Amino acid sequence: MSSKIVIAIQRKGRLFDDSKNLLIRSGVNFSTSGEKLLARSSNLDIDILLVRDDDIPSLVSKGVANLGIVGQNVLAEQVATNKKITAKTVLNLGFSRCKLAFAKPLNSKLRSLKNKTIATSYPALVKNYLKNNEINAEVIKINGSVELTPYIGIADCICDLVSSGATLEANNLIEFKSLMESEAVLISPVESKKITQTNIINLIKRFEGVINAKESKYVMLNVDRNSTEKICKLLPGADSPTIIPLQKDNKVAIHALCKEPVFWETMEKLKLNGASSILVLPVEKILN
Ligand code: ATP
Ligand code: ZN
Repeated sequence: MSSKIVIAIQRKGRLFDDSKNLLIRSGVNFSTSGEKLLARSSNLDIDILLVRDDDIPSLVSKGVANLGIVGQNVLAEQVATNKKITAKTVLNLGFSRCKLAFAKPLNSKLRSLKNKTIATSYPALVKNYLKNNEINAEVIKINGSVELTPYIGIADCICDLVSSGATLEANNLIEFKSLMESEAVLISPVESKKITQTNIINLIKRFEGVINAKESKYVMLNVDRNSTEKICKLLPGADSPTIIPLQKDNKVAIHALCKEPVFWETMEKLKLNGASSILVLPVEKILN
């Protein structure tokens, strides 16, 4: 059976651009305008719900949306506080990477969390951490501007999202312990193995294709026939390269899909081992 797919993504904020790009690159065309909560795909039977990220785990758990894109941080906090949040992760999406970490004022002498007051928007995750590490401390929930709390005297330290550390630095704070790493994930009301709707399975495959393609490169080079094995071993994440004889004696062209990043260092190593005319090309989509 095939019917409309509903996908919930963040309406605006740090997840929006990458979520939209993933959909567009997967062939789901749509446009957003103003404050509209719903966008219809112009080419597929897909509705996109544009909501706050905090509402996505619940919309997916209830089955209002078949799929959703949300940060692991938000999902983990909600799973820890609400039994009704049963959405399952079907795919790690590799964007919006950040971590939830403890930070203290630069001039603070704080050495441990014991008996301290911690301000955070993630009280359940922090409380679980304290419990697992047998630390007694007070947790206060703050929804915004957590980084100001040590300066207005309501907390000794904070536990907040960090990516580059620039926001912490701008607020004279320094990270001292990481609680969890996070990235955006695709969630569904059921585990991926239990998804039966063919159009949803195919859409997830397209997402996978876009994500895998991001890291992948198509590498082409020429080399002496007797160096083939050595060169193939140097190609990162290449399953089974294609080897094509060249008109020139004893030369072959090697073409390979490299599923891991190909750095300048890798190319230099290939060259040192006899490869020439090394081309590294971007891969747009992969369908396995
Ligand atoms: P909303 O209005 O939808 O509730 P918000 O203010 O809660 O948005 P954003 O700041 O847009 O949230 O962040 C959304 C998600 O993006 C976070 O939950 C996290 O997963 C991720 N994120 C947060 N900070 C960063 C960062 N500095 N770099 C990358 N990703 C981040
Ligand atoms: Zn939010």
